[in-house]
Amino acid sequence: MQLTCNQQIVGSNPTRGLEGFSVENTVEKIKEAVSKAFDTGTHLNIAKATEKIAKKLGLSERWVEYTHIEFRNKMNEIAYKKVPYNERLLFLPHCMRNATRCKAIYDSEGLQCVCCNECKIGSIKAIAKELGYKGIFVCPGGSIVLELVNRYKPKAVLGVCCYKEAMIAFDVLKDIGVAPQAVLLSRAGCINTEVNTEEVIEKLLLKE
Ligand code: SF4
Repeated sequence: MQLTCNQQIVGSNPTRGLEGFSVENTVEKIKEAVSKAFDTGTHLNIAKATEKIAKKLGLSERWVEYTHIEFRNKMNEIAYKKVPYNERLLFLPHCMRNATRCKAIYDSEGLQCVCCNECKIGSIKAIAKELGYKGIFVCPGGSIVLELVNRYKPKAVLGVCCYKEAMIAFDVLKDIGVAPQAVLLSRAGCINTEVNTEEVIEKLLLKE
């Protein structure tokens, strides 16, 4: 895959894994536990299933949120995979931009990233563009996301966001028949937030 924004794609996740485990191994353990819950049918009550995994693995709050989102992703994965790339939208949060060096300007469709390589937004955008995603938006908030969903009418949406935004988005998108997937920010906040690029790419590429 050729990138148009000369930026190397390197996954990075500054959060810490479970005691004695790397972040990657922690993610793997959670994914395994979620898959097992699916196989046994215990995922039907997500809150209870998450609580059970949290107790078993001794998860911190951040990892409990991750597990909860992993359940919701899993429940929507089959529908999401069926949607071709050109019927999907990608939403990235503007808080991921390099707050001091970003020269991009805002318009009615969010921040118009010019791929200056000063943050991960440009490289993720390049991959989604190469895959043929219907739209890639860098948004300052949830209300503009909804506006853009109504305007472009996608059949699936991938969003990078914080836990609360993801929970709202899953409910809203479900109500309008759009298949969602979410990747949580690995460092949330108002500026210079972070995401694990590899997780985003994995979701971007998902297909049947
Ligand atoms: S890659 Fe895009 S969003 Fe990131 S700093 Fe450059 S112009 Fe701004």
